[in-house]
Amino acid sequence: MKDSFDILVVGAGPAGLAAAHAAAQGGTQQVAIVDDNPLAGGQIWRGAPAKQKDQRARQLWHALEDAGNVSILQGTRVLMQTQPGELLVQDARQARTLRYKQLILATGARELLLPFPGWTLPGVTGAGGLQALAKGGYPVQGKRVVVAGTGPLLLAVAATLKERGAIVAAIVEQAAMPALARFAAGLALTPSKAMQAVGLAAGLRGIPYYTNSYVTMARGQAQLLSVQVQRAGDKLDIDCDYLACGYGLLPNTELARALGCEIEQGAVKTDPWQHTSVANVLCAGEGTGVGGVDLALVEGHIAGLAASGHTNEALAYFAARDKWRGFASRLARAFAPRDALRALVQPDTIVCRCEDVCHDELRQQPSWRSAKLHTRCGMGPCQGRICGNATDFLYGWRPDAVRTPISPARAGSIITLELHKET
Ligand SMILES: Cc1cc2nc3c(=O)[nH]c(=O)nc-3n(C[C@H](O)[C@H](O)[C@H](O)COP(=O)(O)OP(=O)(O)OC[C@H]3O[C@@H](n4cnc5c(N)ncnc54)[C@H](O)[C@@H]3O)c2cc1C
Repeated sequence: MKDSFDILVVGAGPAGLAAAHAAAQGGTQQVAIVDDNPLAGGQIWRGAPAKQKDQRARQLWHALEDAGNVSILQGTRVLMQTQPGELLVQDARQARTLRYKQLILATGARELLLPFPGWTLPGVTGAGGLQALAKGGYPVQGKRVVVAGTGPLLLAVAATLKERGAIVAAIVEQAAMPALARFAAGLALTPSKAMQAVGLAAGLRGIPYYTNSYVTMARGQAQLLSVQVQRAGDKLDIDCDYLACGYGLLPNTELARALGCEIEQGAVKTDPWQHTSVANVLCAGEGTGVGGVDLALVEGHIAGLAASGHTNEALAYFAARDKWRGFASRLARAFAPRDALRALVQPDTIVCRCEDVCHDELRQQPSWRSAKLHTRCGMGPCQGRICGNATDFLYGWRPDAVRTPISPARAGSIITLELHKET
């Protein structure tokens, strides 16, 4: 198997697939896509692009399969840079290094999970987290689910769960009606999103949609039994088997940070051609800021074209990118998590769930670094991916430099690296 490519794309979601497709056009460049999921598709097209209703997914996938110059490495995680132009990757069997001339980061986003009493009970998941499980075959048939948090993703999650036979007891949206109304009015600028919203709303008719509301507590002993919801000065209890709760998405920036890319407002900073501040490294999709599948696709196209030297062709996508970036800004304004969510944590509420560190221990610390040193917050398997964002929201802490490997790695993979250094 080849281990040297002209253009290496990390991430096989919409941005990565679009980038690889654009980069491979003409057939002269050797392109590879690496993704850590068993099947390509990223978050929205999870479980194989060829099986999606969205024809853009099917078309991209078939074009990539048919191209003779694209290698697709699924189930393969990038762990770190070994030297400029070279990454250490690990799959189920082995670790190895991949070399590239141009690298396109399309590593997507993750959910913002905020702590509240009971959030670590079995049955409480992220909103997109439960959706991902259900898409992967996890049985939710007949289960009562409350979908909570903020953003349009809640509707998509509720729709997926309903389709899989779950009983969606309520959708609990923290944004207030005026913000939602402004956002809905702005959808006129992106008719396809407006149509999508209408379609989702129609499919979810009959399910209570509580705005200006948020979950204050999850109750149960060994398993979630009910949630308490704050609604305009009133409290409401809802019985449920699952709470799927997420407060929007945040860019995955670990790999970009490990490579030395400049980060601005939590996202990878790029120029108009999607170049990062590091030479020969580009970034596209949610890593540059959360904006949905359409923005991810258009940024992917631009990055792929720019990386393969077709910068003039990329110009044709700039207007579309501006349109979707406008949508992204309206999204961020409408669904910014409210301050009241900070007040939900109690002294004994666990904030770092890998290391069982409570709010009481953390609020005495002056910084993320100090918290890591004194409480082990952020030192567990998630390496701060979950609690790092929560502590940023709760205490305003900025995470310190990313450590490599960027995710837990087998000892054998590290040994591969050491052997590699010696040769
Ligand atoms: C949990 C979740 C569920 C979502 N569900 C929906 C939905 O139902 N509808 C909707 O419109 N939008 C949804 N979104 C938003 C969605 O992410 C975007 O609309 C779109 O998928 C972004 O595309 P992308 O290519 O930028 O990133 P993604 O689709 O997230 O793709 C990034 C890919 O990179 C891989 N990756 C990251 N780091 C590495 C690494 N180090 N090594 C190898 N691979 C790596 C990831 O595993 C992933 O497959 C969801 C987001 C999340 C986080």
